Amino acid sequence: MTNAAGAASGTVYLVGAGPGDPGLLTRHGADALARADVVVYDRLADNSMLALAPADAELIYVGKQAAVHAVPQPRINELLSEHALQGKCVVRLKGGDPFVFGRGGEEASHLRDRGVPFIVVPGVSSAVAVPAYAGIPVTDRRHASSFAVITGHEDPTKPQSRLDWAGIAHGADTLVFLMALTNLAGIAERLVAEGRAPETPAAVIERGTTPGQRVVTGTLADIVTRVREAGLRPPALIVVGDVVRLRDALVWHDSQPLAGRRVLVPRVRRRPSEIVRLLKAAGAETAEVPVLRSETLPAPADLLGRLSAPDWLVFTSPGALESLLEQLAGFGRDVRGLGEARLAAVGPATAAHLRRNGLRVDYSPETAAGFGAGLPALPGETMLLLGEDGGGDHVLRGLDARGVTSTEMPVFRLAVDDRAPLPDVAEFDAVAFASSNTARRFLEAYPSGPAEGQLVVSIGPSTTATARGLGLRVDGEAAEASSVAVVHLIVERLGPAAVS
Ligand code: SAH
Repeated sequence: MTNAAGAASGTVYLVGAGPGDPGLLTRHGADALARADVVVYDRLADNSMLALAPADAELIYVGKQAAVHAVPQPRINELLSEHALQGKCVVRLKGGDPFVFGRGGEEASHLRDRGVPFIVVPGVSSAVAVPAYAGIPVTDRRHASSFAVITGHEDPTKPQSRLDWAGIAHGADTLVFLMALTNLAGIAERLVAEGRAPETPAAVIERGTTPGQRVVTGTLADIVTRVREAGLRPPALIVVGDVVRLRDALVWHDSQPLAGRRVLVPRVRRRPSEIVRLLKAAGAETAEVPVLRSETLPAPADLLGRLSAPDWLVFTSPGALESLLEQLAGFGRDVRGLGEARLAAVGPATAAHLRRNGLRVDYSPETAAGFGAGLPALPGETMLLLGEDGGGDHVLRGLDARGVTSTEMPVFRLAVDDRAPLPDVAEFDAVAFASSNTARRFLEAYPSGPAEGQLVVSIGPSTTATARGLGLRVDGEAAEASSVAVVHLIVERLGPAAVS
């Protein structure tokens, strides 16, 4: 049985969310989220991936909150089976990999007992990825040919510890301890007592793969003091072994130009902006606010007639096709309902999306600005623009001059996704305005303006003027009106955050 979106209903997907960097969610994981009716999730380093779930999906948080206990495991098990037995597609989203200290096995056993089908979507485990982001390969032909992943939850000084410490100390070249910060001292001591040299290199990595990543290195003899001095906090893991030495040569994540920096980028479009792409490439964490989602507009009653009339159908964004297909589905139709018109796509992403859906694209200019100029249409031809409500202006310009008659038929509108809470503005090192409209959007989201000491930059003079006109502070303006120049300015003014 499948629900409207084609997902197996009544199935639980046990999905690994990865260790923190949202880019480490797998494609299977993203697909499962996109089809979820219910998402049951733990504390995640980054909640942005929840926005991948459909707008009406139910989001249930079962992680720990400061001082408040987590939902007990038996209750979580019941939540999963109850929703699945109601025929819903349930995603159980867990940090890292669901079967690495994630109690995923217990959840799967419960589901099997209840006869609920489940699918396991493995995730990128912190055990391997967090050392990697710290420049520490867990194996390396020169230093280590084995690694072990061990819970650090067990107090090694307890006589009744279930772990075989002698075996652990000598069983693998690299040892990775999860959930280990509290017991760090006991673990280091015990490994030495079992015969590992006190000068064995060790590293503790806090919030690995995120912009807040902090790494402290030392030896089994001094790691405890160093970690205490740096004040590391959970989540963190410990890596023990000669591979830790490689970090000096291989450090990359924490040495990027904007490592550890957080930049707020207000937006008016749903697609990630070029500025965001460049900021991420420079190592910064970004938040685009507010979170937007597209809502398909109700289809006109004569949809099929409207689509068959013009010579050209013009898709102004990838979402335009999505929404139009949804509208067609309402009439029991699919792509074949698009009829005989030639198809144009604005921008390479839109063209690619059309092709992925098996459609031939007859014309696709790189940018909306150049749309009219290269158009192979003949004077007198008619064109229907499909896209965002109020979003077609930039395409319409220049069409009249070509003697083409164009009409717009908005198929979706962008709405603020109010399920996703706005982050606190004070958490960011910088705010970047990419246009006058983004400055307006920022003020709507944060009426009290930027936080004190935060760097506020603008892409150019007219954006600066708008922002200042709105009463917003602007500290710097890009040397030229481009995304590259904006990011350059932020790098110049901020540089990487000072982390150990
Ligand atoms: N299933 C998860 C592990 C769950 S146990 C996985 O495969 O990664 C939780 C422990 O994982 C934390 O106590 C910490 O030791 C480690 N951990 C998870 N994310 C981490 C991160 N971003 N940085 C450092 N340690 C992390």
